[in-house]
Parts: sequence; structure tokens; C-alpha cells
Amino acid sequence: MGQLQERYKSYREPQKFMEAGVYPYFRAITSKQGTEVEMAGQKVLMFGSNAYTGLTGDERIINAAKEALDKYGSGCAGSRFLNGTLDLHVQLEKELAEFEGKEDCLCFSTGFSVNAGVLAVVVGRGDYIICDDRDHASIVDGRRLSFAKQLHYKHNDMEDLENILKTLPKEAVKLIVVDGVFSMEGDLCKLPEIVELKHKYNCSIMVDEAHGVGVFGREGRGVCDHFGLTDEVDLIMGTFSKSLASIGGFIAGDADTINFIRHTCRTYIFSASDTPAATAAAMEALHILKSEPERLEALWKVTKYALRRFREEGFEIGDTESPIIPLYVHDIDKTFLVTKMAFDAGVFINPVIPPACAPQDTLVRFALMASHTEEQVERGVQALTKIFKELEIIK
Ligand code: PMP
Repeated sequence: MGQLQERYKSYREPQKFMEAGVYPYFRAITSKQGTEVEMAGQKVLMFGSNAYTGLTGDERIINAAKEALDKYGSGCAGSRFLNGTLDLHVQLEKELAEFEGKEDCLCFSTGFSVNAGVLAVVVGRGDYIICDDRDHASIVDGRRLSFAKQLHYKHNDMEDLENILKTLPKEAVKLIVVDGVFSMEGDLCKLPEIVELKHKYNCSIMVDEAHGVGVFGREGRGVCDHFGLTDEVDLIMGTFSKSLASIGGFIAGDADTINFIRHTCRTYIFSASDTPAATAAAMEALHILKSEPERLEALWKVTKYALRRFREEGFEIGDTESPIIPLYVHDIDKTFLVTKMAFDAGVFINPVIPPACAPQDTLVRFALMASHTEEQVERGVQALTKIFKELEIIK
């Protein structure tokens, strides 16, 4: 038996849940993404998606992707640095820089590789990187890859952040990195307070807009725009895998910092560029976002409806202020059971357990899209209310 086989033969965590019939991962979808999807021959209401704008099945985006596929082929066969740059990439970067109110922008093939690559190079030895302790895994990994001293503060606790900043040398480069919208709990970062601390302690700020784009701000520019603080934020990252109906990610900032990232970032230089179809899809989604403000209105209308209904039914939903609604369960086994029972009732939701949350804070994540109807949300709320009552999670 090989060394690895020897070590991992006893890894049976997932099997425990499979044997109990509640394993909730890697469930295959056999249809187009939308508010209803087909799984195992059944129609299921989708409340587990990150496609807040509801654009993943949009015909215009699908056609833009098909046209790019026909014109440029199926892949780029190289990195942006060498043979993998298309005029499409350059155009999308220009449009995204404008959209985010920054001088320049770079597109990567995933959002994860933006955080993992950018953080590794923009701060180094002698610098400090300070994160919220609920920041996304890609920020944590980017932080680990950098040679900067790594610090983190309690989630959204500005006193804790200030206590850390107080101890750091005034002249040292100090980068605060936060999720604009926290992806599991749906609450926002306290950007106005963070900006105050930036001035008081001479820091820089990077905001992850993965869940902010398409949801907050004018035309869905994100949380920085929502707070009117775009100019105060040094770097803005985003992803195409949620509101922009595709896959890929971007970093936007001032021309000099972006120039440095362009020529040093390893996940940008040593990884193939985003496919023509994915790039064209993200660009078309961006155009739709800018030209159809009614999508944002629809998203917020259905979000407010869901928030009100979950509160009325007595769910514990934390401090969410976004289309991400955490329904707290506070127990891993019950979290899986709720997910399974919901699925059997035709409702897809995501279980959230450690390391995506603290061990005592497990939850199921219910997320809205602009394309959901109130009737669909009501069906979801009613199914979940029945399950939560049956399991005595709510009264
Ligand atoms: N940041 C946050 C906050 C995210 O939620 C995600 C994806 N879940 C990412 C970054 C990574 O984005 P991508 O899916 O494009 O790799």
C-alpha cells in the first residue's frame, strides 16, 4: 500500500454522512441554471445560487459566448502574458475599470486566483496584511502566500481592528482586506469606519466585491459605490462567477499598482487566460447590468419579501443586509438534515459548516436572484418553515 493510501484510508468523514443519507455535496444539475433546475429527474427550486442578477440562462449572454467561441475558438492556449491575450480581454478590462471607477483593471480566469495571486505580491516582507476573520478562503490563501506579517481581527469588530493598527509602525505598508458582502452571513463590511481607520493609521484597503457586484451600488457596481467610498479603496476585486453569469475575476486599482500586478502576479502570468466564451459572456452580462436597472430593483423586491417572511416565521437570520439569507441551525447534523429534507421537498439550499463558519454557527444559506418570483420564494419559505418546525429549530 502506498504512503498516501495508507494515510487516507481512514479518512471517512464524508462517508459517515453518505451512510446517513444526508451527504449534500456535488449534486448534479442536468439542466440550464435558473430559478428552477432539474436534478435526478426532478424539478428543484434553486435558492443555492450566487447568480444574483439571474442572468446565467440569458439568451443574449449565451449568444455572445457562442459568437466568441466561433470567432476565437474554445481556449486561449496560453497566459495573458504571452499568447493568451485577446482584444476581448483588453476591452473587458477597460470597461470594468470604468465601471468600478478605477484607472486600470486586470481579468483573471477565476476570482480565487485574483485574491490568491494579488495578495501574494502587493504586500511583502516588512509589510502587514490585516483581514476580517470571516474573509473568504481565497483571501486567506493569498495572505498565506505573501511574506507580509499576517494579522486578523474579529468579524466586523472595529475596536479590535483599531487595537491591531495601533501597534503597527506608522510608515509600514498596511493592507486591510475585507469582503464587501460576507458570503455566508450576507452582512456588509463596515467600510466607512474602515476608511476612517485608514486615514488615522496610514493604511491601504482592498475590498472583495464578489457578492457586491450586481447587488449594491449604482448599476450594481458594488459595496464601495454603495457607500460612496470607491476613491478611498485602493484595490477592488470581483468575480464573473456570480452576477456576471460566467467564470473569471478581476482586480481594479490605480495604474501603477495594476502595472506592477500585471508584471509580477504569478496566478496571472503562469496560468492560461479566461476562455473567449467566458470573457464574452461576462462582458455581455456587464452590458445588461448597466442597461437594465430593473434587474436590481427586482432583486431587492424579492429579497425584502424573503427577509420579511423569514422574520415573520421566526427564523434566526443574523445581520444580513443582502440577498444572502443565513438560516441558523447551530448543529452540523441538523444542518445536513435540513438540506436533505429541503431537497426532498424540491428546494435547493446550501449547508454551511466549518471552516466556512464558526462551529457553533452552522446554517443553511438561502440566496435570491432577480429572476425569482414571490410565489417561488413563498414556496421556499413554507417548505423550510415546516422542516425547521419539525426539527424544533424554530417554534
Ligand atoms: N471571494 C469571495 C468572497 C467569494 O465568495 C468567492 C467565490 N465563492 C471568491 C472570492 C472566488 O471567486 P471565483 O468563484 O470566481 O473563484
